[in-house]
Order: sequence, then C-alpha cells, then structure tokens
Amino acid sequence: MVEIKITKAAKLKPKYTDESKLGFGKVFTDHMLTMLFDKAKGGWGPIEIKPYGNISLDPAACGLHYGQLIFEGLKCYSTAKGLQMFRPRKNFERMNKSALRMCMEPVNTDDVLKGLKELIKLDADWIPKSKGTSLYIRPTMVAIEPFLGVHPSTQYLFYIILCPVGAYYATGFAPVKIMVEDKYVRASNGGVGDSKTAGNYAASLKSAEEAMAKGFTQVLWLDAQERKYVEEVGTMNMMFKIKDEVITPPLGGSILPGVTRDSVIQI
Ligand SMILES: *Cc1c(COP(=O)(O)O)cnc(C)c1O
Repeated sequence: MVEIKITKAAKLKPKYTDESKLGFGKVFTDHMLTMLFDKAKGGWGPIEIKPYGNISLDPAACGLHYGQLIFEGLKCYSTAKGLQMFRPRKNFERMNKSALRMCMEPVNTDDVLKGLKELIKLDADWIPKSKGTSLYIRPTMVAIEPFLGVHPSTQYLFYIILCPVGAYYATGFAPVKIMVEDKYVRASNGGVGDSKTAGNYAASLKSAEEAMAKGFTQVLWLDAQERKYVEEVGTMNMMFKIKDEVITPPLGGSILPGVTRDSVIQI
C-alpha cells in the first residue's frame, strides 16, 4: 500500500464567491497531489499532498522540449448522496494507455485513486453545489529528466490539481456552433490521436482560432486520409441521433476513447 504524506496549507486562499461565474479552469483549490518517478530509484515514490503552488523544473526537462506530457480530465460532483466521481478508474486506466503509447510510466490506479480521494476530502469546501457546476480533476504527467537527447525520460512528475468549474465554453450550456474542418487534420492512423497527450491540443489551436474568427466555437475533425468521415470535436466525441438510431464513429486509433462515449453506448 502506498504511503500518502499530507502537508496542509498554513494559509487558505480566499474562495470564489459566485458559483455562477466560475467558468472553466481558472480557479484552483488549496492543495495538490504529487508523485515522482525515478528509474534509478526503482520506480514511483510516495504520494504527497501539499499546498497548491509552482513546480520547479530543470530548463532541460525533456518533457518541455519533446512533449512527453499526458493528462486526464474527470469530475467530482456534490450530489444528494454526497461527493461522487464519475467512473474515475476509467480515467486512470486511459492515462496508463496514454503513458505506454508515449513511452512514459504507468501509475498504480488504486494508489492514485486513494490519493485523489484524500486530496478531494481536504479541499471539499471548494466543491460548488449549484446545477451545472462540479470539481474538475486534472491528473497530469510530465517527463522531467534534464536531458536534451530524444529518448524516453527516466524521471517523471505526476500531479493532480483541482478546479471548481461551471460550463466549459464561455457560451455556457447553450448549444455551440461547430465548423467542419476540411483543411487541417487532428490525427492520422498510427499517430497519437487516441492518447490524451499535449501535442494533440497544441496542433489543434490554429484550426480553432480560424474557426473562431468565422464565428464558430469549435471544429469537427474529419479523418486525415479522405477528409470525409467524421472523427470528433477538439474536446469531445460525437454522437448523432438519426431517427431512432444513435451513431458514433468507431475507435480506430485516431480519436480519443471518451468515458462519456463509452457510458452513452452502455446506456
Ligand atoms: C478528453 C477528450 C474527450 C472526452 O473524453 P471523456 O472521457 O468523455 O471526458 C474526447 N475527445 C478528446 C480529443 C479529448 O481530449
């Protein structure tokens, strides 16, 4: 069983006052979880929960140069039954798949889930309660070995930060206008489109910027080869309801295997 070291913040941050103005990804709680991997030391070290704050990295940390960086996104809700996360194990399993694809180090899902629950308990006062709000959970892993050769890092930093959030898009929960993208591509067969890895999102910014200038909120990606088949939107899988049938693109390696997608299919 993993050791969890907890250091509480001496001074708590002022909390948001209006849940309806939270938006997405701007407000962070008092604590964070960190865990370090070092191949020379035999693997992952203990989980630490400590005050939220800057991280210090060597400027040569290889993840900053070559993009060995993966992340996850899931939510915890304040419900009538108490605090509930939505299928959290799925996210850590997917993170481990991303890790293997990017030659990074998988984590022990039971350990990080246990650590995450401790972190959420500690920052429970930050969880908003009104309809449409939740606590967004962002697990991240970045390669930190100071080395400029292109090879898999031997050191990684895993961390989890928490943000109380409202709607993801500035337009709230209203429908968003989506532009079908036929110029740029997001991912091709054999690439890393099915990994939640930083480069996929950097590569999508140009397209989103051009779409926004034309009055759209996001783009709908098409397949890289023929620009003919629907793939997904930048941060979400697609479902279409045609009469009594719901259809969605298959997981061919170029789209992200969403937990929401899997849940909708199961339902
Ligand atoms: C995170 C993400 C999704 C949605 O995944 P969920 O597990 O349903 O939240 C879909 N597409 C992309 C590109 C993503 O990054």
